[in-house]
Amino acid sequence: MFLHRYVVKTGDTIHKVAQQFQVRVFDLLLNNPQLEHVHQYIYPNEQINIPDPRNLTRKVVSPYECVMEYGPSDLEDDVNYLRKYYPSFVSTQKIGHSVMGKPIYAFVVGNGKKEVFYSGGWHANEWLTSKFLVTFLKELVQHYQANLSFFHYQVSKILDQVKLFIVPMVNPDGIELVQQGIYEEHPYYHSVLTMNKWSRRFEHWSSNIRGVDLNHQWPAGWDVEAKESPQVPWPRHYSGKAPLTEPEVKAVYHLTKKNNFAYVLAFHSQGQVIYWGYKNLEPSQSKAMVERLSLVSSYEPIQTADSDGGYKDWFIQETGRPGFTIEVGVGTNPLPFTAFSEIWANNSQLALEGLIL
Ligand SMILES: [Zn+2]
Repeated sequence: MFLHRYVVKTGDTIHKVAQQFQVRVFDLLLNNPQLEHVHQYIYPNEQINIPDPRNLTRKVVSPYECVMEYGPSDLEDDVNYLRKYYPSFVSTQKIGHSVMGKPIYAFVVGNGKKEVFYSGGWHANEWLTSKFLVTFLKELVQHYQANLSFFHYQVSKILDQVKLFIVPMVNPDGIELVQQGIYEEHPYYHSVLTMNKWSRRFEHWSSNIRGVDLNHQWPAGWDVEAKESPQVPWPRHYSGKAPLTEPEVKAVYHLTKKNNFAYVLAFHSQGQVIYWGYKNLEPSQSKAMVERLSLVSSYEPIQTADSDGGYKDWFIQETGRPGFTIEVGVGTNPLPFTAFSEIWANNSQLALEGLIL
């Protein structure tokens, strides 16, 4: 009855295994009584039964029927895909490594003088922003190569003027934790469980693997934010012992210092709003720019979040240039898979408009 036993790899989830073998999640659950729930974690080296698709009345026919998690192993696959098929259109750089040694990737597309920077995957349970940015990048380079308009945007023309930098996954260790859970062989098994009060669920986890919030780490009102936040490593909102201590943050810091970004868009979830100011330090053109982003996305502009220590805050303070935080989606993090269609619909044009502000 079973096709075979499958040994779970790092980065696997129930949805990804179902897709890989072209069976439904439902059939995986049915054939593995130890799995009780579609969002149950499966751990590396665990064995699960893969039903023979020939015995199933209904197979998964299209990848679009099964929206999946997007984690560090998927990003590696996409890095290889882009290097293989679009080497002359997009370059890939490692700008640093996470606490656990995973590469932090930056993609660069376009040849223009104006440099623009998009980032996502800052918070572990906001991995849909990573999926969005990589999907957007792949669509963008496909249109670029084929010299096609993307909606009504003339991609080739735009990318003669613009050089776009994308770091889709600032926090790969945290994202993997949210998707895979914790298991004994994990190098941070004990410290993660201690921080998490011995709970083995991680839907609420937004920090990096050692319990520092990567968007609380920036030297812009850091002391104020740190005082009001948890004082020890925590699943969310702990600012660290000082600004810029975490390797993931250092990587983005050096990328920003090394380049000459005209403005930056940092993607988070959720709320369907765009924050565009920080202590009135933002330049006057920020308001007109956010109104354009709002028009194409239907997301509401909000000047300040009344918080400090974020990347956008620091960028505005440091450079006097525009910075935006895009809060995609509605609901509770991690947003359900079905949120992706709304995120794509509202943000693909926003990301295009973002190139020509
Ligand atoms: Zn966030």
